[in-house]
Amino acid sequence: MDRDPATPMPGSLRDDRVRSGVARGPRGLFQRRVRAAVFGEPAFPDVELVPAEVCAARPHVIAFAAWRAMVTAAAADGLDPAPLAIHAAYRSVALQAEIWRYRLDERRARRAADGLPPLPERELERQQRLWTAKPGQSAHHTGLALDLALYHLGARAGRRTPHYAWLVDHARAFGFYPYLPEPWHWEYDPPGLVAQLADLRARLARGETPPPALLRPPDPVPIAEPAPRMLRRSM
Ligand SMILES: [Zn+2]
Repeated sequence: MDRDPATPMPGSLRDDRVRSGVARGPRGLFQRRVRAAVFGEPAFPDVELVPAEVCAARPHVIAFAAWRAMVTAAAADGLDPAPLAIHAAYRSVALQAEIWRYRLDERRARRAADGLPPLPERELERQQRLWTAKPGQSAHHTGLALDLALYHLGARAGRRTPHYAWLVDHARAFGFYPYLPEPWHWEYDPPGLVAQLADLRARLARGETPPPALLRPPDPVPIAEPAPRMLRRSM
């Protein structure tokens, strides 16, 4: 499909989405993040999200298929699959806006409680962006970012689980890459993701059921690529 990359289709991922990587995680772990600039709501047609009856968190069907294969493999390796359950996946821009406002209010209140003068709005937002994505910029808008149940343990304890160690070694083979500050947050972003999505869309438009092969993640990225460019610290 020919189109000007400078004018992305509404409601789609940009083909030129940023891949950010850092090779500073354990055992060469690096990030490879979905560019979550969303040009419309929802980020994907509703039919591409798993129905709520199947998974309440409504992940993208492609990410869900890869996650299922991954959990099956983890269980075969002897892990209790419960901490790998999907705690959260798809999040609307409206919900992210609520979260954003709530956390800004919290920041203001905390400063006031500490007896500090109010910060200029721009500075307050700059600090908040380190930890919270702005509405429209969260990878969760795509349904491709999964927060696993490891979330309930918090970051420090989450990193000490056998589950995290297993994910570090194996998640990439299923198309999942970490967001290093949050051991529970993994994003489905294998090489060829955009083509995989386009293929799925074409099949759905023709009324076809996507074949299992399409739902399988492509080959994992060799550990040395892509080159680390920048680390975005927003969820
Ligand atoms: Zn997350």
